[in-house]
Formats: sequence, C-alpha cells, structure tokens
Amino acid sequence: MTDTATAAAAIIDGKAFAQGLREKVAVAAADFEAKAGRKAGLAVVLVGEDPASQVYVRSKGKMTVACGMNSFEHKLPADASEAELLAVVQALNADPAVDGILVQLPLPAHMNEQTVIAAIDPDKDVDGFHVINVGRLATGLPGFVPCTPLGCLMLLKDKLGSLSGLDAVVIGRSNIVGKPMAQLLTAESCTVTLAHSRTRDLPDVVRRADIVVAAVGRPEMVRGEWIKPGATVIDVGINRVEGAEGEKARLVGDVDFASASAVAGAITPVPGGVGPMTIAVLLRNAIVAAHRNAGIAFDDASL
Ligand code: NAP
Repeated sequence: MTDTATAAAAIIDGKAFAQGLREKVAVAAADFEAKAGRKAGLAVVLVGEDPASQVYVRSKGKMTVACGMNSFEHKLPADASEAELLAVVQALNADPAVDGILVQLPLPAHMNEQTVIAAIDPDKDVDGFHVINVGRLATGLPGFVPCTPLGCLMLLKDKLGSLSGLDAVVIGRSNIVGKPMAQLLTAESCTVTLAHSRTRDLPDVVRRADIVVAAVGRPEMVRGEWIKPGATVIDVGINRVEGAEGEKARLVGDVDFASASAVAGAITPVPGGVGPMTIAVLLRNAIVAAHRNAGIAFDDASL
C-alpha cells in the first residue's frame, strides 16, 4: 500500500456535521420557544448505574440544554421494578412540557425492553423504536426514525447528493441500526442488500456496493479488498480494542480503516464519524416532536 493510495478516500467528518446540525436545532428551538411560549423538552430515563449509559445520559442532557431545550433526567435504581419504570414513562407521556422521551438501553435483565418501549407515546418516541414508528418508517409515513441510521443517511446525502439507483449493502440487521438503515436507503431508491451473519460470501456481496454501511460490532472486519473502488463507506461500529502491553485501549470501527480508505471514495473515521451524529439526530428528532405535538408547522426536511 503506497502513501498516495492510503490518502485516496475523502474523510466524512461526522463531528463537524453533527455540530452544524446542533446549531440548526438551536435556531429551531429558539423559534419554537418564541411561537409556543415554552421551551421544547426532552426527557431521558436511566435505570441503574451502567457507566457507559451514565456518560451518554450526561452528554445528552448537556447538549439538550446547549440547544436551548429543557432536559429532564429521571434516574431509577438498578433494582427498580418494571412497574415503577412504566409509571415514570406514563407520567412523561402525560406531561405537556415533555416532547420527547428516551429510555436509555440496555435495561436491567429483569425488565422487558419491548414492554417499556411499547409504553412510550409514539409521538414522543424520539428514538423511533416503538412498533408504530417502525411501521411508519416501513410504510413511508411521517414518524420518528432511529437516530444512528438517520445520521448515517444524512452523512450519505451530504456527500453524494441523490442516492437514487445506487447499490447499497448494509451489514447487520439489528432493529436499531441495520433494519432501519435498509428501509431508509430503500426509500432513497437505492437497491439494498441487507447482509448478516448467515450471508454467503460477504466480501463478494460488499464488492458490488456503491454504498457500504457496516453495523456489525466486529472490530475491523470489513477489509479494503472487499470494497469497490470509489465506494462510500459508513462505519457504524464502535469497538474497544485493548492495546498491546503498555499501550492504551483504542476505539476501532467494523471497517479496517487503513485498507478501506485506500480504496473507498469516501469513508467515516472511528471515532469522529457516525458516533457524534447519534445525539445530534436525537436533538433534531426532539425539536421535530415539539413542533408536531404543539401543532406548529415545521419543515422537518430543514434539519
Ligand atoms: P447487534 O444488535 O449486535 O447486531 C449485529 C449485526 O451484525 C447482526 O445482525 C449480526 O447478524 C451481524 N453480524 C454479526 N457477525 C457478523 C458477521 N461475521 N458477518 C456479517 N454480519 C454479522 O449490533 P448493533 O446494535 O446493530 O450495533 C452494531 C455496531 O454499531 C456495534 O459496534 C455498536 O457498538 C455500533 N453502534 C454505534 C452507534 C453509534 O455510533 N452511535 C449506535 C448503535 C450501534 P445476525 O442477525 O445474523 O446475528
């Protein structure tokens, strides 16, 4: 691999895009406040002490406030009952100051995530996990789309403009990333292949794609040799890899950046690619929810 080859791909800067999106959300939030006579509000519910979840919830709260919205945090102990959590969700559903509700996942093992998600008012379900919103996405109705895949789509459209007619491969079929990503790309008139652990000859499938979205959870699995020259590669993976002795642990994606960036036309780095988009899109969904719930006209496509 030569130095020139390594520099081939344009780097898709998700951090900068996310910052720009948050700035637009802040403008929309100020406009909402002027029209509605109140701030938009996003509630986050955290059960237990999971350190990673605590970090996410803290940064969500900070960014919500920085965008000019109210942030409501509800913390329950790890041994809270599912009934207690459902009562919190019901209270938030009924609270007119709350436009969006997010229950931080994963929940403790004694709680049923589907039951809890189903209890959220679909019109406040800014994570887009409620079956009503899943159905709306599948049928092309306005609803809420999960934040990470919507963020990936925003990066793709920003880079490529129209996606119509392009071949896209999504690797991973989870409900929160892979499946909604495939739906979004289908709606953009891509020809979509949804690959997973049973896919035969994955490298060959990936090699056909103009767009590759990797959401697998396996460090650096997708190699440069799999990538069609000039393809756009979106790496959703966030994998912590222990360094060699004396070296710090580092974050890597599901794509081997060194080899893939030598072949791709454009690629998201890890960190600094898809990761920062998730919270920015959550805030975007929250301000969209606020306008819808208050009956104030808003062009969702402006964000
Ligand atoms: P997940 O629920 O574990 O799903 C992983 C998917 O990858 C499954 O559909 C699985 O196939 C497929 N898979 C596993 N091994 C494979 C293989 N060898 N070849 C092909 N497909 C394979 O994961 P997820 O929640 O979608 O997350 C995926 C990655 O994205 C993780 O690294 C996660 O940390 C990251 N992530 C990042 C963000 C963010 O940036 N904000 C948000 C969410 C997730 P089967 O269905 O056949 O088992």
